[in-house]
Amino acid sequence: MTAPDARRAEIAGNVSAVRARIAAASHAAGRDPSEIVLIGVTKFHPATDAVYLAEAGVPDLGESRDQEASAKVAEYAQLTTTPATWHFIGRLQTNKARSVARYADLVHSVDRPELATALASGAERAGRVLPVLVQLSLDGGGSHDRGGASANESRRLADQIAGSPALRLAGVMAVAPLDADPEPAFTRLAELARALQGDHPGATIVSAGMSGDLEPAIAHGATHVRVGTALLGRRRPNFG
Ligand SMILES: *Cc1c(COP(=O)(O)O)cnc(C)c1O
Repeated sequence: MTAPDARRAEIAGNVSAVRARIAAASHAAGRDPSEIVLIGVTKFHPATDAVYLAEAGVPDLGESRDQEASAKVAEYAQLTTTPATWHFIGRLQTNKARSVARYADLVHSVDRPELATALASGAERAGRVLPVLVQLSLDGGGSHDRGGASANESRRLADQIAGSPALRLAGVMAVAPLDADPEPAFTRLAELARALQGDHPGATIVSAGMSGDLEPAIAHGATHVRVGTALLGRRRPNFG
């Protein structure tokens, strides 16, 4: 096999293994695996890997930095006609919001009012309605080291987004705290998601679970899992 063929086969094998984990976790939770959207996180991996993922049946792709993402989205479009859905999942500075609003299909990481305002103005300029998720903090008001809005902040943020014609409130996203049991964090996420859906019935997405914790996330109602390492291998050390 040539090197690209070997990489394509490796990624296809990883996709099968991750799909099997999702199926097992869904069945254990009494859920239908087809309810779960697998997002392949391509950050720090080349655009060709994004193409191999899409061709292996994972057309939902996740990126976390604007500069890398905008270049990869453009390169992807040069490489293939296979449609992709681009998810922006990383911490986002307001001065990058206009750029992200042009190419992202769903922004997962809206955690403060200034960012919602900047994305709304970017989306308006681009002539589109941008679906977004409110990123919730699950570390109990502590260090907030994984980002996200507190329960109170998230309620106000959700109302702001719902009132913005250029944005659509599609749900919530969270990252479990590092080095802690993800179970209580995902239990809390499910409670917060349910509360938000009471006020905003269209906010049905729950984006949670990564390579190491997709099973408990699915057990607690995740609709979208964001998986990088288990699909594409390790990223360069010390980055992302
Ligand atoms: C990098 C990243 C992921 C993927 O993490 P893996 O452990 O490699 O699966 C998921 N979510 C966010 C927000 C990320 O930044």
